Amino acid sequence: MDNPSPTTPPTTPGGSGAPAYKIVDHIYDVVVVGAGGSGLRATMGSAEAGLKTACITKVFPTRSHTVAAQGGIAASLGNNSPDHWTWHMYDTVKGSDWLGDQDAIEYMVREAPQAVYELEHAGVPFSRNQDGTIYQRPFGGHMQNMGEGPPVQRTAAAADRTGHAMLHALYQQSLKYNSDFFIEYFAIDLIMSGGQCVGVIAISMDDGSIHRFRAQAVVLATGGYGRSYFTATSAHTCTGDGNAMVLRAGLPLQDMEFVQFHPTGIYGAGVLITEGARGEGGYLTNSEGERFMERYAPSAKDLASRDVVSRSMALEIREGRGVGPNKDHIFLHLDHIDPKVLAERLPGITESGKIFAGVDLTRQPLPVVPTVHYNMGGIPTNYHGEVMTIGADGDPETVVPGLFAVGEAACVSVHGANRLGSNSLIDLVVFGRATGHRLKETVKPGAAQPELPKDSADFSLTRLDHFRYAKGGKPTAAIRTEMQRTMSQHAAVFRTDELMAEGKAKLTEIYASMQDVSVTDRSLIWNSDLIETLELDNLIAQAAVTLHSAHNRKESRGAHAHEDFPERDDANWMKHTAAWFDGWGGKGGSVRIDYRPVHEYTLTDDVTYIKPKKRVY
Ligand SMILES: Cc1cc2nc3c(=O)[nH]c(=O)nc-3n(C[C@H](O)[C@H](O)[C@H](O)COP(=O)(O)OP(=O)(O)OC[C@H]3O[C@@H](n4cnc5c(N)ncnc54)[C@H](O)[C@@H]3O)c2cc1C
Repeated sequence: MDNPSPTTPPTTPGGSGAPAYKIVDHIYDVVVVGAGGSGLRATMGSAEAGLKTACITKVFPTRSHTVAAQGGIAASLGNNSPDHWTWHMYDTVKGSDWLGDQDAIEYMVREAPQAVYELEHAGVPFSRNQDGTIYQRPFGGHMQNMGEGPPVQRTAAAADRTGHAMLHALYQQSLKYNSDFFIEYFAIDLIMSGGQCVGVIAISMDDGSIHRFRAQAVVLATGGYGRSYFTATSAHTCTGDGNAMVLRAGLPLQDMEFVQFHPTGIYGAGVLITEGARGEGGYLTNSEGERFMERYAPSAKDLASRDVVSRSMALEIREGRGVGPNKDHIFLHLDHIDPKVLAERLPGITESGKIFAGVDLTRQPLPVVPTVHYNMGGIPTNYHGEVMTIGADGDPETVVPGLFAVGEAACVSVHGANRLGSNSLIDLVVFGRATGHRLKETVKPGAAQPELPKDSADFSLTRLDHFRYAKGGKPTAAIRTEMQRTMSQHAAVFRTDELMAEGKAKLTEIYASMQDVSVTDRSLIWNSDLIETLELDNLIAQAAVTLHSAHNRKESRGAHAHEDFPERDDANWMKHTAAWFDGWGGKGGSVRIDYRPVHEYTLTDDVTYIKPKKRVY
């Protein structure tokens, strides 16, 4: 490659200060960053609309974290019990602790059945009922009769490998349409011009070549940032790169204080045991052998929503009723379920139990503990996938031209303060598809695009070059561990003012230590040291925004359980947090907070606004 020699970082002859790397230019109508469920669905929709579409992904598409989704995808098909989209809407609003935008929620639950049938026709091998219809299982927080119960069977499943099946089907479909895949390309930053997104800069990880994509629209589908915590069910690649690009573009992230802990991560390993396990009849016990969820959620019990179950487990452990030598975890029982049912419906977790806990779950309980699982917060969008910000005139619904976001990276917001299980997979396909529709309406195939600003690659290359030659005293992995431990300790299931203030102070220091980061590999061929450093720079900005947003919110709502303010406070806090972060590489680091109103209205007159009430399961 014609890249500079590894020892001397050169600068452009023009003296602009940006390092000289050879740049390969591309022009597309639409560039999608990310090839998980949401990115592939958006790519499909865009290509189907006749738009010249590129999809950039840092991992091979079928290795995206969506592949790990086990339990299933929610839609009111009503195959295994009576159901209606208004019931799904009610549960999602209640699950969100009334922070979700009801217009977007209405859109999602109404489109959901169609989206699932579309997946069926695309080739997803769903599990089947005797009569040939798609099998649906119960999941936490999903009920019949507008929350009254009993639990509804709403979660369509392909055994316990639903995400795997979906991702393979969607990738195959995407290839059918004429889209170009840039696989194992790492997107570094957006190209912004006059407040508009006009492209993205990426590095091809196998040969280090730099690629500049010019586009009428960029769609960020880069997933969550679970890896800002020490133990998470998410893949090591879940570093929220798109979220961080948005922060560096001077745009806010929304509701980042809401981090979901899944009740059943395998103790020690963090590997997920799907909520489908409790859906199929599994239950939790403490050291006294008590099914304690009966006390905390008399009606839904083990199938209460995730924040409720995680908090109950944390309380049991705190009050000395945890299991194991250190009394620091809980047992999940599946040993009473017919082994044939386990083999048919939960084969994957049977295997995970053996590998990661050494447990034969047909005979022994599984050690589990609440584990970081999902980010409700992310890039604010409307239900068309268009990114929103608070405009200079104060308008909180200002659309950022040329920029879209979908999937876990986005905050539409349908999940509000707490996502219901199986509502993410449906979010991916419904809003991936909606984004495709919006692109079709707003982007003209092959329309001429203005020249990019001369300095369009400077920022990305300066940052890349800075880390490539970083020769400080602290390895990337050391800073990452400090950040992860701080987040796990100071932004956990339960939070206090003091704990979060301490966490903020620690994180400020850890962030500053990025100035002293050391990268040992100077090459550009599969330089994982460099890529992990860019990812850490991304993670740490999101960690800061998460902690600051959490410390700022003086109430308890959904996944944000603030012990000094144990009640939900609708009068003061029924609003979305919008948070900006200033800096990168350990410089700057201040967080600014403002608010966007929650949409207290529905999309159509077919349903009325669901008024807040106390959340009891
Ligand atoms: C173990 C596990 C089980 C789950 N089970 C369920 C379930 O049963 N039901 C449910 O509804 N939800 C489930 N979830 C949640 C759900 O799977 C995720 O929220 C969802 O799959 C995220 O999809 P996504 O398309 O947003 O992103 P991902 O699938 O995370 O994909 C992100 C994509 O972005 C690309 N990317 C990221 N950064 C860059 C960059 N810098 N440059 C280029 N490309 C980049 C990656 O290569 C990847 O293709 C589960 C999550 C986990 C972790």
